[in-house]
Amino acid sequence: MTMTPLVPGATIGVLGGGQLGRMLAVTARQMGYRIVVLDPSARCPTAQVSDGVVVGALDDLDAARHLAKQVDVITLDTEHVPATILAELETIVPVRPGASVLRTIQDRLVQKEFLDRIGMPQAAWAPVGDATELEAALAKVGRPAILKVRRAGYDGKGQVRIEPDADAPAQLARLRGELAVAEEVVNFTREISVILARGLGGEIQIYPIAENAHRRHILHTTRAPAAMADAQRTRAHAVAVAVAEALGHVGVMAVEMFELADGQLLVNEIAPRTHNSGHYTYGACATSQFEQHLRAVCGLPLGDPRALTGAVMVNLIGDLWAAGPPAWHHVLARPEARLHLYGKDAPAPGRKMGHIVLLDDDTERSLATAEGLISVLTPRS
Ligand code: AMP
Repeated sequence: MTMTPLVPGATIGVLGGGQLGRMLAVTARQMGYRIVVLDPSARCPTAQVSDGVVVGALDDLDAARHLAKQVDVITLDTEHVPATILAELETIVPVRPGASVLRTIQDRLVQKEFLDRIGMPQAAWAPVGDATELEAALAKVGRPAILKVRRAGYDGKGQVRIEPDADAPAQLARLRGELAVAEEVVNFTREISVILARGLGGEIQIYPIAENAHRRHILHTTRAPAAMADAQRTRAHAVAVAVAEALGHVGVMAVEMFELADGQLLVNEIAPRTHNSGHYTYGACATSQFEQHLRAVCGLPLGDPRALTGAVMVNLIGDLWAAGPPAWHHVLARPEARLHLYGKDAPAPGRKMGHIVLLDDDTERSLATAEGLISVLTPRS
């Protein structure tokens, strides 16, 4: 593996052309790098701001090889690129994070085994291959429980809840035969995420901790920095650092955690990439998570993750487009608001279309402002 830093002028390959790739590409081009993206759509959010696009599925080895030959390093917009493809690409060009990291993360069962192995606390869980395993799994995790597909679930997709009196096999059938894991339902007081970056030489920088609220399993708001006692922050940092080091991760990583009433922290899931709950860093921090990821994968020194202001991020979901484009002037009239739209042309319900970041040290006020904005942007029927 080359340790020579890739300096501006180098070309970064991105697998997957969503909003994470788009914000990475905007930052990379600002800094004088070139970007080429692999995506099934030539008009995807990342391609719109890239130097080149290779049109192909993320599991199309020939297309991925074609990309690899044009770039100096490869990184990812999504963890759902098959690890086997990444292993092939590693024979052509550095892939950061590498195939071994993705192999551990992209299957929920393997991720949970990994967390158990390194002694990280998590909700009780059990594998569910079929209806016979289901009974034993529910006996272990209790009811209510959540079933999650092992692969390719996100934003609550591929998840079903099993209530105490529900017909469990019928709920399992809704996952259409996919291998799954059962999880205990955690009675958390709040959800937080620790976003850090690990550089090529193993150095780590950690962002102010984000406090997250979800709606219908989709991230709704993030507030940062989360109010938290120093000792608790130190514990949360230690968990995230242990995960990144055990994986040998390179790049930005988010570790989502549940905080319980007694202060216990349980790892919910690991995202080996930039994360929705880190969007606030773009505007609020000295170095955004996108620049930080770029620095890590290029082997450059990491930037300063310090927050220059408090921030609240609120996601803009496709439902807001039900009656046409939302009335953006409400957002643009506010001096503390930054509007990000991802250039997606099909605003389906539940689809992440953009977000707003409110830059203000008074995050309580910004959370109220965010709700007010969502309410004026919501179409009236
Ligand atoms: P996930 O896609 O696994 O991150 O789940 C999305 C959201 O669903 C989480 O951020 C939580 O709000 C909720 N959730 C997931 N798993 C659990 C659990 N075991 N107990 C309680 N809530 C959960």
